[in-house]
Amino acid sequence: MENYDVIVIGGGPGGYVCAIRAAQLGHKTACIESRGSLGGTCLNIGCIPSKSLLHSAEMYHKANKEFDKIGITTGGLSLDLNSMLDTTLRGSGLYGAVASTIKNVLIEYMRQQEKDPFQKDNAKILLQAINISPPIGSKARKFYNSLEAMDYERDILEARGFGVMVDGKFQLSPAYQVLGNLASATINLPLDRAVAEIDAVTEALDSRNSDMQRIAMALGWKAWEVGAEIEEHELINTTAKETRAIEATRKRKEKAAAKRQKEIDAIQAMSQEEINAYANWKSKPENKGKRLLDYLEENK
Ligand SMILES: Cc1cc2nc3c(=O)[nH]c(=O)nc-3n(C[C@H](O)[C@H](O)[C@H](O)COP(=O)(O)OP(=O)(O)OC[C@H]3O[C@@H](n4cnc5c(N)ncnc54)[C@H](O)[C@@H]3O)c2cc1C
Repeated sequence: MENYDVIVIGGGPGGYVCAIRAAQLGHKTACIESRGSLGGTCLNIGCIPSKSLLHSAEMYHKANKEFDKIGITTGGLSLDLNSMLDTTLRGSGLYGAVASTIKNVLIEYMRQQEKDPFQKDNAKILLQAINISPPIGSKARKFYNSLEAMDYERDILEARGFGVMVDGKFQLSPAYQVLGNLASATINLPLDRAVAEIDAVTEALDSRNSDMQRIAMALGWKAWEVGAEIEEHELINTTAKETRAIEATRKRKEKAAAKRQKEIDAIQAMSQEEINAYANWKSKPENKGKRLLDYLEENK
């Protein structure tokens, strides 16, 4: 068992300041805290969490009542109590971060439970759990977003691959954004930001965007933030959608024709007695709407 000159009980502002000073004066000092994190009431319960809430409330008030006086108009302003609570909890140390993570995992779990089974995305629950460490959570989200983008942009990726020109115009393929997100998520290289900047400059130079959009992008806004459309990509998406619809109709027709042919072949191969038996079966009310192939299936 170690010996100390000074033992301070309690790691709040009173205790830790006392322990630091005692150590500075050359005493071998220990500070005992039962809570598991230092900072006492001030950091974990009182001053810091309440100031964090006050700060959020002040910002909301300013945006609501004072921004218009300096020429900033905001629309659809609303309070996100969940995010405010997260800021407060995270500001109060490790236990707060754990509580915030458990809360968000539960919220996401309930959100996913309400969805149709085919639309559920349990990866989002996992992402909330990983967010206990925000830097790792951010990397995981970037990785997940890259995979999502590959699905969402699959027509453009298929059509353009890693192309940099489209219809004689410089325009990066979304493959670079996917690559950028992956590089940022895995090797910490912020390629995603570089690609977003290049996209914004490209769109700022495109006269099909409105003047306001072009000015905003030249000032550093991202293309997606100002709703600048990439017409060439829209065209690829629309064409791919129409091609898929035409292909689906063609397949449906082919399937129906094959079924009809199968029925013709089957009826030609039937004897008169079999045809009579089928007619008898078909006349029953429970077989209304059924077809020859159903009859053959039932009477194999
Ligand atoms: C809502 C609220 C808002 C506040 N806002 C402000 C503010 O804006 N400005 C300001 O100056 N003050 C503010 N305060 C007051 C401030 O929090 C306290 O004055 C300060 O925390 C007191 O510090 P302390 O070290 O004496 O006690 P505490 O901070 O309470 O620390 C005592 C520590 O000792 C630990 N402990 C107790 N018994 C034991 C034991 N037997 N073994 C081991 N550990 C033990 C406790 O777990 C605790 O961590 C606020 C308080 C509250 C509740």
